[in-house]
Amino acid sequence: MASQDLTLTPVGIWGGYPAAGGATSSFLLEQAGFRCLIDCGSGVLSSVQKHLGLSELDAVVISHYHADHIADIGPLQFARMIDKQLGGNDRLLPVYGHTEDPEQFEKLSYKEVTKGYEIKEDQAVRIGPWEVTFCKTAHPVYCLAMRFSDGEKSVVFTADTGWRKELAEFAADADLLVAESNLFEEHVGRVEGHMSGRQAGELAAKASAKTLLLTHLPQYGELERIRTDAEKAFDGPVELAEAGKAYKL
Ligand SMILES: [Zn+2]
Repeated sequence: MASQDLTLTPVGIWGGYPAAGGATSSFLLEQAGFRCLIDCGSGVLSSVQKHLGLSELDAVVISHYHADHIADIGPLQFARMIDKQLGGNDRLLPVYGHTEDPEQFEKLSYKEVTKGYEIKEDQAVRIGPWEVTFCKTAHPVYCLAMRFSDGEKSVVFTADTGWRKELAEFAADADLLVAESNLFEEHVGRVEGHMSGRQAGELAAKASAKTLLLTHLPQYGELERIRTDAEKAFDGPVELAEAGKAYKL
């Protein structure tokens, strides 16, 4: 099962809205020919096409229903519909999301083009080559962190969250921890539901993660400061996510 590389490519790196020409925080996860998109916010549909055709996506997983994580779901559904009408790909695209907001969950299904599948905390789901598990995060709306494992290697996405100790256990020994770090340190305590670089570093340290990748970044200030704050708290390698740069595990 784990014979092939697991490849992670950041599609977008921004929190809240995309900087010019970019996309909000989103990732393409690929292994054994299976291609999964993690979150689908503003700018993602445009950016992901630098890496693959939209008909080649095999699954989408949505962490929560804030606009910067779902804004491009509608256009993705249109794209798949148009392709189908033209006689192209007619595979139903599974879109995984929680059902705590039933109205939003319902929107994941569209005609015979996409279909919503429920994900839950403490319930593993098989998605392509991975077993995927979920953990509730600390965010103003219900949001799930995700752990993808091929039986050997694992990637954990915190999705949007403030500091929550349960996430350290959830992310234990991850080969790659993709952590949000939307805040500069001086904003901790003033903005709910997000972490600073230091907190992301502390999470990686507590989880004994191997590598830390920072995402959901602010469009202002000196981002390098977020990275160095994380580095002070975590001994392993720390990088700011870079759109289009592939990470192989
Ligand atoms: Zn959010």
